[in-house]
Formats: sequence, structure tokens, C-alpha cells
Amino acid sequence: MLPTPVDLTLDEIQSRFGTDEKARQYLEEIRWPNGVVCPHCKNADHKRIWEIKENPAKKIRAGLYHCAECKKQFTVTVGTIFEDSHIPLRKWLVAWYLLCSSKKGISSLQIQRMLGLGSYRTALFMTHRIRYALAHPAFSGMLKGVVEVDETYVGGKSRGMGRGMHQPNKTCVVSLVERGGNARSLVLDRVTSENLYGAIMDHVQDGSAVVTDDFLGYRNMPKIYKHKSVKHCAEEYVCREKGMDVHTNNVEGKFSLLKRGIVGTFHQVSKKHLPLYLAEFDHRFNHRKDTDGARTVSALKCAEGKRLTLKPLKKGGK
Ligand SMILES: [Zn+2]
Repeated sequence: MLPTPVDLTLDEIQSRFGTDEKARQYLEEIRWPNGVVCPHCKNADHKRIWEIKENPAKKIRAGLYHCAECKKQFTVTVGTIFEDSHIPLRKWLVAWYLLCSSKKGISSLQIQRMLGLGSYRTALFMTHRIRYALAHPAFSGMLKGVVEVDETYVGGKSRGMGRGMHQPNKTCVVSLVERGGNARSLVLDRVTSENLYGAIMDHVQDGSAVVTDDFLGYRNMPKIYKHKSVKHCAEEYVCREKGMDVHTNNVEGKFSLLKRGIVGTFHQVSKKHLPLYLAEFDHRFNHRKDTDGARTVSALKCAEGKRLTLKPLKKGGK
């Protein structure tokens, strides 16, 4: 019997999925909760799929299936970020767990040490693939209700207290946080009203209340939203308006976690890879009420269908 996500602690992972065979069976449970599906033709008729018996002499691995519809063979890793990886599946599972359960993130160097990986590059490759898998499924469905929006700057050196274009070394991140719900974080090339509204319109449902601070860039919010702003410059942090608390505490709390992660764990993140780190932080935020195990399982479900679009990392990337 497989443990439920609630039971899935690091100790569980090590004792119950300590072999690649067990790790593979576990992934099969997560990927195919209703039985094996052919990743090539999506055939789910179990009478038309059979398992090929393991035969080391003929180099037939365990977990190999044959689909009678498309006449192709596959394993659970086909069409996932694990495909063609030489890293043992059990190590992948532990890496996912570590990434999903570390609140401020975990560095690739630490993953390398903890999993005994041969090189830093391997650890980097794994963590980027995991982040990549997390980056996309979050973008389904619109945020609604009361959505707090704020921007912040990460990386580079501080130059004065200016906003927007006054800080050329820094990268702007905008986060949208639905109260009691999910968050989305994006990198903005330039902080303009147009870009800010674009991000809001891409992710927030019409008719929602959008709460921001009093930054000029939000002044002409599209009329499809009920816009409320809190005046930070007048030291007004929370006020009540028509039964709604006007504040941006949730999005600010999320930023402080991100900043502690980037400063404390990743040190420096390149602009190119920042969206991947944001996805990782968003995923942890969106599953903040879950146990570490449940958060890992929901992350593993993102592993499918991500392989083809992942470009190999260039040397020296973070
Ligand atoms: Zn098939």
C-alpha cells in the first residue's frame, strides 16, 4: 500500500522509495492514478496495454510497457522531465521533496551535497528542470475576488530609492496574490502602466477588486476592476472601505520570503532564470497549507509533458 501524501516525510521517501524500482512504482501511481495511459497515443484501454517482463539478459528494464494501439513502448518517464536522465529516479524524488519543502528555497549546491551527486552541474540541471515543470501549470484559471498586486526589485545593486527606470541593475517582479487563494509572479521588462495592466488583465478575472499601493503606475486602472489603493507614503497601511480591508500585506509578505530566498539561498539569480525561481516560490506559496508531502505530490504532477520544450542549460547559468 502506498502512503498517502500526508505520510510522505523525508524519512518515508528514503525508507519506502529507497530503490529506483520503488520510486518508479510511486511515480506510476502519481502519473496514472486510474491505470496506465500510453503517453504516445493516449490509449487508456488496459486490455490494449501490457507490461513487458523484465529481462536483464535482453536489457529489458522493469516498468516497460507495450501499447497495442500505436505499437510503441514506453515507461512512466516518457514525456516527462525525467526522460533520458541518467540520474536515478530515487534521487529525483528526494530532490523534488527538498525543493517543495524548503520554505526559502534550497540551493543547488546543497542538493548536490545531500544527494551525493557527482557535480554541481547535475544538481543545477535537476533543480532547473523541477522549477521548469512548476512554471506552467500554475497559469490555469484566473485570480478573482480581492487580488493584491505589487512590484518589487531583485538582484543588482541598490541605487537610491527610486522606482522603475531609476534602478537599471535590478529586475522588476510583479506579484498578484488572490486573498485566500493563489499567487502568480512575473518578470516585467519595464515598469510601465501598460505592462502592469497587461499582467493584471492576463491573470485577474473581470469584476475583481484589485488592491495596490499608491504608485502612479496603477492610477488609471482599467475600469473592469474595482481598484483600491493604500497610501504607503502617508504611512497608511490598512484601511477599511465598504466592508473590505484595503492593504497589500499578503503580497508584501510573499515578497519578503522571495527576497530572503534570493539573498540567503540563491545569492544571485540571473534575469533569464528568475521566472523559474518565481514559479518555485509561487508553487510553495499556493500549496502553503499542504503538508510537505502533499506539496511534493502536487508538484510531481507537473512533471508531465515538459520535456520537449526544455532547452539545455548553458554553462555557468544559475
Ligand atoms: Zn499508444
